[in-house]
Amino acid sequence: MAKQPFACGECNRILPDPEKKSDPPQCVHCPSAPVTTDWQGFVVILHPERSEVAKRLNVTVAGNYALKVNIR
Ligand SMILES: [Zn+2]
Repeated sequence: MAKQPFACGECNRILPDPEKKSDPPQCVHCPSAPVTTDWQGFVVILHPERSEVAKRLNVTVAGNYALKVNIR
């Protein structure tokens, strides 16, 4: 099974793997937000303006998101 990617605790975006594997990635949209691999529910949002899920997550940009991100 592939390693779980990181997700942003602020905007729920699934983050691409960092170039340096030792560092957790940083969300380009909210650089100060915590990131975690502890999340559930991978969703691909293609049309945020037409998506109920996007509304619930406050998503306005298409992309890959986690439904639920667990930030301690
Ligand atoms: Zn973010």
